[in-house]
Amino acid sequence: MTGKEDAPPPGRSVRESEIFREPPGSGNFSSSIGASVGIELFQGRGRTKRARPSKTIVEPAREVQVLAETDVLVVGGGPAGTAAAIAAARLGADVLLAERYNHLGGLSTGGLVIWIDRMTDWSGHQVIRGLGEELVDRLPKDAVAGPPRADWGGRDAATAAYWAQRTAAYHGIVTWSPTIDPEALKTLSMQMANEAKVRLLLHAWAAAPIVEGNTVKGAIFESKEGRHALLAKVVVDTTGDADLIARSGAACDTDIDAGDIHHCMNTAFLFGGVDMERWLRFRYKEPDAFASFMTLGRERVKYFEKPFVSWRNDVALFLGPRLAGYSAIDVEDLTAVELRSRELAVGHLEVYREAAPGFADAFLMLGAPQIGVRHSRRLVGVRKVTRQQWDGGHVFEDEIGVSPSLSPKIPNISVPYGALVPERFDGILGAGRHVACDASSHTFLREIPQCWLTGQAAGVAAALAAASGTPPRHVAVRSIQRELLRQGAYLSPAVATPHSQFGENDRSRSLVKSHATAT
Ligand SMILES: Cc1cc2nc3c(=O)[nH]c(=O)nc-3n(C[C@H](O)[C@H](O)[C@H](O)COP(=O)(O)OP(=O)(O)OC[C@H]3O[C@@H](n4cnc5c(N)ncnc54)[C@H](O)[C@@H]3O)c2cc1C
Repeated sequence: MTGKEDAPPPGRSVRESEIFREPPGSGNFSSSIGASVGIELFQGRGRTKRARPSKTIVEPAREVQVLAETDVLVVGGGPAGTAAAIAAARLGADVLLAERYNHLGGLSTGGLVIWIDRMTDWSGHQVIRGLGEELVDRLPKDAVAGPPRADWGGRDAATAAYWAQRTAAYHGIVTWSPTIDPEALKTLSMQMANEAKVRLLLHAWAAAPIVEGNTVKGAIFESKEGRHALLAKVVVDTTGDADLIARSGAACDTDIDAGDIHHCMNTAFLFGGVDMERWLRFRYKEPDAFASFMTLGRERVKYFEKPFVSWRNDVALFLGPRLAGYSAIDVEDLTAVELRSRELAVGHLEVYREAAPGFADAFLMLGAPQIGVRHSRRLVGVRKVTRQQWDGGHVFEDEIGVSPSLSPKIPNISVPYGALVPERFDGILGAGRHVACDASSHTFLREIPQCWLTGQAAGVAAALAAASGTPPRHVAVRSIQRELLRQGAYLSPAVATPHSQFGENDRSRSLVKSHATAT
């Protein structure tokens, strides 16, 4: 063999590793979930990606048939898109919701992310309300597991310890962060979309936005029929990756918090046939045996994950192992993560069946149909949520919702409408995990309740913009807030009450005017 043949193939080198987290109590609040459950660093695994050919081809121009014209086109039927579509339709807009897969709910159903993060603040007050609350409340009773309302915000040590083992208590405080049956949420999401008269288009992949000047007018879709155009007065990008916003040419942020889990990917999985109550007794009452079991797991599969409870005792949820070093907008990386996650799921099954109490009869019930992407791009908005705002409890005058904070030491976080409005482009809003924020704030703004929150607000704003024929950035902030309150959303008292600190006149202005005077 020549020296040349010995050389590694040219291409990008990727280093895969689980990500390190500081232990709870370290004062690093960058991850609500990560900080509480603890994530460990194992040895990284390197790989080289094959270089791509430098060739290009010219795709011939063609006429594309218009499939539909609508007031509001929502692209992506995850938590944000489902909420956006229903909220806009409830305002009387003609709404078309397009989704590439066969279901609604995105990662909260197809991604098996069935642990809904906290909807209450640290006093037990539910601050994620509106459509998010309605979705959870309308699920059948046996499709939701979590603490009773009377316990939310409770600090009783025994109760908090019980719920801490079941992902519903942090910092010694019981929270409303239930686990849900993903199939029930799929069914309910479709039912609520139908009730609101949202037109659904499933199996439709948005390939490109239709842009005239600086205004988005719709999107081109690929389906089994080939290529089609959908035209709309306002488009809401809820793809999770800001696909349409990015392809319009708008700026996106991609920086990450390297010490957090928010940039990790993996495909979640469920084991059936387990006894989670037995597992929890083992994990918390037999620490030495538990430590030995974890050592065995690491020896066998290296990246080794602990299960979370689900909505049923006989189903265990695995939201990891989390894999760092991959890009969610690189098709070869997406493929590699699927292969690696499957390998790890099967490896886990062997170890758990062999040695974990409660798992002797476990079987791999389901590998998530949707890959678990936590972060790819975030839109550059008129405003953004930042780490600097956390401590002072700053309330934006264009607030469209309130997120629980990561620690009882930090007040609730005000989310501005400007975080949904791309800085430069009109005719399009973004909601869900790609809203405008810094990398630290992305840690919690990407969570399912927060995606319901921003989705509902985007839907309301899009419907108002379409009805009045104004660009979304010119819709009066007060009219968005008024409709959100009417739809049951929660806003800070400073903006929710008629004689608030901002006053009626301030908020009857549009975002653009109020932004000019913003601090
Ligand atoms: C492994 C993992 C664990 C997590 N743990 C938690 C947790 O415990 N609690 C919590 O609350 N959150 C958790 N999250 C975060 C949360 O699940 C997501 O951030 C949230 O679901 C994002 O919602 P979304 O609507 O913005 O996007 P998604 O849920 O990703 O939905 C986007 C939808 O758009 C569709 N779509 C995308 N591109 C296109 C296109 N081009 N054309 C047509 N359709 C398209 C997708 O198919 C999908 O249905 C976790 C995430 C991951 C990956």
